[in-house]
Amino acid sequence: MKRRVFINSLGASALGLGIMQDTFGHEINEVNNIHSLIQIPGNTTATGRVIVIGGGMAGTTAAKYLRLWGGTGVEVTLIEPNATYYSNIFSNMVLVGERTLEQLSFNYNLLRTKYGVSVMQNSVTGINPIGKTVTLNSGKVLQYDKLVIAPGIDFEPIQIIGSAINQSKIVHAWKAGQQTTYLKNQIQAMTNKDTFIIAIPPKPYRCPPGPYERACIVADYLKRVKGGGKVIILDANPSIQAEPENFSNAFNNTHKGIITYVPNATLISIDADKGLVNTNIGTFSGKVINAIPIHKAGSLITNSGIGLANANNGKWAGVNVLTYESTAYESIHIIGDASSTTQPKAGHIANAEAKVCADAIIHLLKGESVNPSPITNSACFTPITKSTASWLSVVFRYDPITKTMVPTGSGVTESLGATKDNYDDMLKWFSNLMSDTFA
Ligand SMILES: Cc1cc2nc3c(=O)[nH]c(=O)nc-3n(C[C@H](O)[C@H](O)[C@H](O)COP(=O)(O)OP(=O)(O)OC[C@H]3O[C@@H](n4cnc5c(N)ncnc54)[C@H](O)[C@@H]3O)c2cc1C
Repeated sequence: MKRRVFINSLGASALGLGIMQDTFGHEINEVNNIHSLIQIPGNTTATGRVIVIGGGMAGTTAAKYLRLWGGTGVEVTLIEPNATYYSNIFSNMVLVGERTLEQLSFNYNLLRTKYGVSVMQNSVTGINPIGKTVTLNSGKVLQYDKLVIAPGIDFEPIQIIGSAINQSKIVHAWKAGQQTTYLKNQIQAMTNKDTFIIAIPPKPYRCPPGPYERACIVADYLKRVKGGGKVIILDANPSIQAEPENFSNAFNNTHKGIITYVPNATLISIDADKGLVNTNIGTFSGKVINAIPIHKAGSLITNSGIGLANANNGKWAGVNVLTYESTAYESIHIIGDASSTTQPKAGHIANAEAKVCADAIIHLLKGESVNPSPITNSACFTPITKSTASWLSVVFRYDPITKTMVPTGSGVTESLGATKDNYDDMLKWFSNLMSDTFA
């Protein structure tokens, strides 16, 4: 795909312009300027109480578009424990000082003031699908007509031995926040004699290119700032899981001599005192160990006690991708990383899933049938060095035979290498995506 065409289509979808109008057909005031005061429609005939759990990429987008498309008759409450959301996207750059966490922080003010979403800073501890209620940490019980759950991911434990202080040094930093700063400090204390080890869990995990991106960013930093060092990638998967051409080139050429890629290396345990990572194929020694644990859906899903984690051996939530309704209960919709679909666990696709879900809920509240052929798209930009990036893109459409989202055309497209132009486009893409979600 030509770069300009790609960026234009990305901009349109990220802002919810061309594709949104074609696919969903909602009438929206002032769509051409997402930053102007949005007038929520009042007469869509959709009425109901929708509770959205989780103010991340998926939940925030759903809350916004439920109001923007559903109008004032759709009462939307977003429940999120944190006042600030730190974007995982770009958080690898925080590790080497190219971004600060503050630059990646977002809040829910515009969701309240522009879209009239009621935002509650709390967490949900229980769901009653029969009585259609959720219970908050505060003990408060709220009633819903439709429930959207978007709690992201949680992790399986890793076996770590050693003193408590050394054990606490082993972090994943796979949810941006405190751990990001902690890992950043460890990386910045490295010398040109030290080794950074990143352990990648078996798929599915959040952001398929993310761990390889992290390895490249750290390698680039060690070379530029420390004058050398090593990065070992221990991948539990048999091969590179995203952009194989671009990452092979980065490992074998751009970061040659720094990065060693080891496939089929399943993490068994870590000796935090000795700095050793034990895998099925041998033991590796490193100064900084960044172990990303095996993923599962957010604990609200896996510990729900009502069977919402009914896919992939109880790890993820099964959904109907026409509506993102749970395959276990009607009127409960699950979007973003927590759901089990054929689409990647990524922020861009979480944003797209949220729009399909919001559109479906509005149709259901009106008593109408839902869009039978939704389209979603995903894009990931990957910094390979401080000034170059690569990208991948894929468009999915609903396949009525398999009832899944299938890649269109030739599937996943990746850029022809890493360039400065791609890096500049990456900044625009991020700004568009985050505006479409939080502004
Ligand atoms: C290093 C890194 C780089 C990445 N880069 C990219 C990229 O370039 N492109 C891309 O598309 N994606 C990228 N991603 C992936 C992207 O960040 C995730 O896929 C995306 O955040 C998923 O959105 P989500 O809404 O499902 O989960 P999240 O964004 O994690 O949001 C979940 C929210 O739910 C809340 N929550 C959890 N439990 C409860 C509860 N019980 N009650 C109330 N709220 C609750 C949490 O507080 C959180 O705010 C990257 C990820 C990482 C780690």
